[in-house]
Amino acid sequence: MAEQTHRILILGSGPAGLTAALYTARANLAPMLVEGSHPGGQLTITTEVENYPGFEKGIQGPEMMEIFKRQAERFGTKFSFSHATEVRLNQWPFEVVLEKETVKAQALIIATGATAKLIGLESEKQLMGYGVSACATCDGAFFKDKDVVVVGGGDTAMEEATFLTRFVNKATVVHRRDALRASKIMQDRAHKNPKIGFIWDSAIEEIVGEQKEGVSGVKLKNLKTGKITDHKTDAVFVAIGHNPNSALFKGQLEMDEIGYIKVKPGSTYTNIDGVFACGDVVDSVYRQAVTAAGTGCMAAIDAERWLEAKGE
Ligand code: NAP
Repeated sequence: MAEQTHRILILGSGPAGLTAALYTARANLAPMLVEGSHPGGQLTITTEVENYPGFEKGIQGPEMMEIFKRQAERFGTKFSFSHATEVRLNQWPFEVVLEKETVKAQALIIATGATAKLIGLESEKQLMGYGVSACATCDGAFFKDKDVVVVGGGDTAMEEATFLTRFVNKATVVHRRDALRASKIMQDRAHKNPKIGFIWDSAIEEIVGEQKEGVSGVKLKNLKTGKITDHKTDAVFVAIGHNPNSALFKGQLEMDEIGYIKVKPGSTYTNIDGVFACGDVVDSVYRQAVTAAGTGCMAAIDAERWLEAKGE
């Protein structure tokens, strides 16, 4: 099949990718955006988004991503409903193999995001956005004066539980072992917080609830005794870590030990000239839609200036 060379190719259709598309389209660079295997990204598995500036009354996550997409489309972004299976960054123009074609690009913007690790229960999938969440910053405020469960024993879980105590009546950390993995300082903070309780050596067997009414409880299994107990809760925050979606670039782009793509501080430049990275695939700290959009804008401007300096 004939290969097409794009000036800008963007991988990923969350806030970072779509913002990079909007900016590069308005700069007349006719970007092509590959939507990936989860079009719209992580916001499509949340319900209400109340903390994206400009949406005064809040907005549903999937609807927000539709608006982002229409805005990028309005200025001429072309979309490919496909995902990349291979990238060749050791040549220029770069080559990206999609499901049905191979495309070439002068500049590549990687905005492939991250995926929150999930426990893997059917009830977790069913109730995601309806009382099950992987983001306390996003959803904590919906559970004012309620009781919630936080799953995990690392820094993310301690941070989420501590943050949630600003709103909730009680946050109970459910951990599969009897010792936390979190750093000492985060553990101490959580242990000192009177609103945080712990259930040790336990795993969630099932999350009880319905989409209409939300979560009402969890079935817990004690992993030492095998005993199953019911625990009432209004929400479950899964905080067992995130995986950056960067496997495609392993061996080609510099990454940290977890797989977050490294960028030059204060920019979106990767170790390969002409390849830029933005959004959650570079960010293990903030992970917000608005910060992803912000770095998507940075990637667009970096790419635009890079092409200009190259005389393209
Ligand atoms: P993590 O350190 O890998 O911890 C994940 C936790 O989830 C572990 O306690 C693990 O249990 C548990 N877990 C994993 N899979 C599970 C499953 N299927 N069911 C139940 N529990 C499960 O991940 P993280 O907490 O996201 O931290 C990742 C990195 O980011 C760390 O380096 C951390 O220090 C850093 N971080 C830093 C901050 C901060 O400093 N403010 C905040 C967040 C994260 P086990 O302990 O039994 O393995």
